[in-house]
Amino acid sequence: MVLFIKKVASVLDYLLPTSCIICSIRQLDPICARCLHSLVSLCKTPRCVICATPSHHWVCKSCRTARWKFDASYCLAFNHSRLWPILMKIDRHGALRLLPGLMFAWEKIARPHFPPVDVLIPLPEAAQLTTQRGFSSTQEITRKLSVLCKTPMANQWVSLQKAYCPQQSNPIQNPFLIRADLNLSHLRIGVVVGHMESEYLLHHFAKTLKSKGALWVSNWVMVRIPRKEFN
Ligand SMILES: [Zn+2]
Ligand SMILES: [Zn+2]
Repeated sequence: MVLFIKKVASVLDYLLPTSCIICSIRQLDPICARCLHSLVSLCKTPRCVICATPSHHWVCKSCRTARWKFDASYCLAFNHSRLWPILMKIDRHGALRLLPGLMFAWEKIARPHFPPVDVLIPLPEAAQLTTQRGFSSTQEITRKLSVLCKTPMANQWVSLQKAYCPQQSNPIQNPFLIRADLNLSHLRIGVVVGHMESEYLLHHFAKTLKSKGALWVSNWVMVRIPRKEFN
């Protein structure tokens, strides 16, 4: 009997080698057609082209007044999407086996709408966070996106100041340090970030890149956590 079950399992592994990261049904792709369809329909929420917060306007009220240094933000999902718990499992629990599913969603839902960039840079995270986890989820996501989009990745250009702490640091102060010898003239840069809640950190990052001549800075956000107000 045990032998029979093992044989059935190996046949299943061959015919249906993976299971959907959302509903766990065994099938061929990392996300099944039904779950993908529900993700696509949620992606139709109108949003601001600059900060990707839900908005009925091309540019939301906040971006019209704040004038962030980044030029555009693209997000794969919002935090009410079923991709949010997947991102949390990757980010908090190191479930890197779910990354192919996240990339599959990016390829199917987000990528067709994005203009190309010359280089991808992961948004640096606080050193204590990387040490706690033993990895940087943003770097891992960027590595996968770099292969998927055939775009080089640069992760040594910009770093965070050692004293930076996400809870205590002043959002108005720029916490980034950029290599002095860099020349980013004419480069279109995609900044990869797992989730985006506030614009400040990405604003400072874009400002730092533009201080070295970057031409265009867009944020590539896996999950956008919108501001409370609906602009
Ligand atoms: Zn599914
Ligand atoms: Zn906006």
